[in-house]
Amino acid sequence: MGRSKKRRRLSRIKAAIEANEEGDSRKEEGVSPLVEKYWHQRYDLFWRYDEGVRLDEEGWFSVTHEEIAFRHAQRCPCGGVVIDAFAGVGGNAIQFAGLCTRVVAIDIDPKKIELAVNNAKIYGVEDYIDFIVGDFFQLAPSLKADMVFLSPPWGGPSYNMTKKFSLESLKPKDGYSLFKIAQTITPNIVMYLPRNIDILEVEQLSWLSSPPLDIEIEENVVRSKLKGITVYFADAALLSSR
Ligand code: ADP
Repeated sequence: MGRSKKRRRLSRIKAAIEANEEGDSRKEEGVSPLVEKYWHQRYDLFWRYDEGVRLDEEGWFSVTHEEIAFRHAQRCPCGGVVIDAFAGVGGNAIQFAGLCTRVVAIDIDPKKIELAVNNAKIYGVEDYIDFIVGDFFQLAPSLKADMVFLSPPWGGPSYNMTKKFSLESLKPKDGYSLFKIAQTITPNIVMYLPRNIDILEVEQLSWLSSPPLDIEIEENVVRSKLKGITVYFADAALLSSR
């Protein structure tokens, strides 16, 4: 066998061994075939993944990519309080805590909060976050903050089945109702939405106020792929005259 043929064969064997080892560690972590695609992006989701970050199935689908969460965090007012209304496994809350003074991380699912606490500890920011198990819609009237971050349930990966995703399709309440409830806390709202969101509908949210709120719409790209759309309102928008 020629040298280059031998080298090619060896590198094929090496790749097969690595793929096998990867498969083993995936199994050990209880990663189901459904979330395999997200597992391959694990370091884009949490760069400290190997230090013990934990996610459940829903968490894999819905956690914000770390570099996008960092961008969101750059908009929080320094020294202010930020509410992460649908905190999930903590991807956004961790980045907020790294840059803001205090974070209130809310999730209706106690398991999610347990995972978020675990993940925040890995990043050493757990002391900056108040974790609350509860329904954001019920808690909202009693909350005070300088910014509200909304990454509401999109309905899992099926959001991608339609060409244009309507604000009406957000769960458990439509996007308009959600926005109005958040506005009772502060106009400084950041929404992280599906990449196929109806932009016209999003713009209409700023017109719910008089005068209309400043608005900035950002496409969030990771490794040349559009992952989502972030909409910044009022002081969270760069256009805002702070
Ligand atoms: P996606 O559809 O984008 O995958 P999820 O269904 O994972 O989104 O929901 C995002 C997070 O919001 C989940 O962690 C879920 O437990 C949480 N959540 C859902 N409803 C509420 C609510 N009313 N208040 C607070 N958290 C909620």
